[in-house]
Amino acid sequence: MAMRINCSIQNTICLLNPSLFSLHSRISHLKFKPQLRFSQNPSRGVAFFCTNATNNGNEEPFVLTTPLYYVNATPHMGSAYTTIAADAIARFQRLLGKKVIFITGTDEHGEKIATAAMAQGSTPHDHCNLISQAYRTLWKDLDISYDKFIRTTDSKHEAIVKEFYSRVLANGDIYRADYEGLYCVNCEEYKDEKDLLDNNNCPVHLKPCVSRKEDNYFFALSKYQKSLEETLNKNPNFVQPSYRLNEVQSWIKSGLRDFSISRATVDWGIPIPNDKTQTIYVWFDALLGYISALSDDQEQPGLQGAVSSGWPASLHLIGKDILRFHAVYWPAMLMSAGLSLPNMVFGHGFLTKDGLKMGKSLGNTLEPNDLVQKFGTDAVRYFFLREVEFGNDGDYSEERFINIVNAHLANTIGNLLNRTLGLLKKNCQSTLVVDSTAAAEGNELKDNVERLVYKARIQYENLSLSSACETVMEIGNAGNLYMDERAPWSLFKQGGYCF
Ligand SMILES: [Zn+2]
Repeated sequence: MAMRINCSIQNTICLLNPSLFSLHSRISHLKFKPQLRFSQNPSRGVAFFCTNATNNGNEEPFVLTTPLYYVNATPHMGSAYTTIAADAIARFQRLLGKKVIFITGTDEHGEKIATAAMAQGSTPHDHCNLISQAYRTLWKDLDISYDKFIRTTDSKHEAIVKEFYSRVLANGDIYRADYEGLYCVNCEEYKDEKDLLDNNNCPVHLKPCVSRKEDNYFFALSKYQKSLEETLNKNPNFVQPSYRLNEVQSWIKSGLRDFSISRATVDWGIPIPNDKTQTIYVWFDALLGYISALSDDQEQPGLQGAVSSGWPASLHLIGKDILRFHAVYWPAMLMSAGLSLPNMVFGHGFLTKDGLKMGKSLGNTLEPNDLVQKFGTDAVRYFFLREVEFGNDGDYSEERFINIVNAHLANTIGNLLNRTLGLLKKNCQSTLVVDSTAAAEGNELKDNVERLVYKARIQYENLSLSSACETVMEIGNAGNLYMDERAPWSLFKQGGYCF
């Protein structure tokens, strides 16, 4: 694994973060200069990939997923953040020469969707098309290099959900029972009375929960308590960052309760096989998108075909609010269906703005589309990767954004490129007249940069994305320092080589 990467400085920087090479300059208050625009391959930004070619074709693919985003509203910054991080990881894995399957998509069923559609005077179907497309458009604007985009309204997804359900049923883990409780329509779930605020208000939505009684199908999660405990003891890396493992272990320790997996009153969903009066509820629907996405569009959709195309996933990236479902429900469901567990679930933190929690009611949301329009793709991507320690909560402020982007992308990377390319153009007809790899042999800068590339590689492997950005900047700083010390412009004037 620990092979070193021999590349020139420019290749080295592109190797670590290709996105740094397309600096946009759509704004006046960032100091990007128009001559620093570098074109990127229109095929979703793969132009700068250079690989170690270690993949012999038989290697397992690196499969990573974002959550499937709920289409009750247009994409917000939290979804964009997860997806930017996933994209950085996907690009890094491709640089290592791995076959990567990067999955994202939209979760489109449920009562809330039907209600949202009705409020817009639309049908659920049209509403889902509209919002799902808004996600695709944003991913394009953010230069997200996903491989699969799955919608839970795809017919192949529905076929795989039904097959999965039937497997779990055949394993004796699904039963029907009456359920009566307090229900939050916005959360689309029953709540424990002890978790509610005064007047039975939902702590998330601050609206009263309503009393509901219906018979549902349940998944026997409690049967998997011991298996889950053993799994986490054997493989503590399953939940990352490591400080989230305790939380998951204490949920399991406190006793697992079976959970309802169907709704009798919701039409907009996948019908339960052999019982058209109920539809499948979120977790037995949306989580299966990670598998159905693997299914080839051409083939007859089936669970086995999808599984053999890349399951298990190497990494599920999620926000910490859905950790319980990914680290407890999902592995138990997979065990019941006789399928392998993903290698890792990583729960990242939340974003705040100017130190405050963001929310529509507070009127302080951060719109990813606006940010991209105002500052350009690379600035947005870089800021969140660099500024938020991946896993922890992070804050956005416009002042900090502008300062960071100017200091790092314009003044460090941009300046280094500008000086280098300017000198080449002025003195060498835009052509590098020597073999830079040979010329750099024995040069201290080369050794330093190689060490930094190795350091960044380890940081990427550990998903320390902010630290990896810092290391890339160290390379930029080292390059600028080298230029200052060598002053090639003077050497050119004296008529010599500048190396
Ligand atoms: Zn709620």
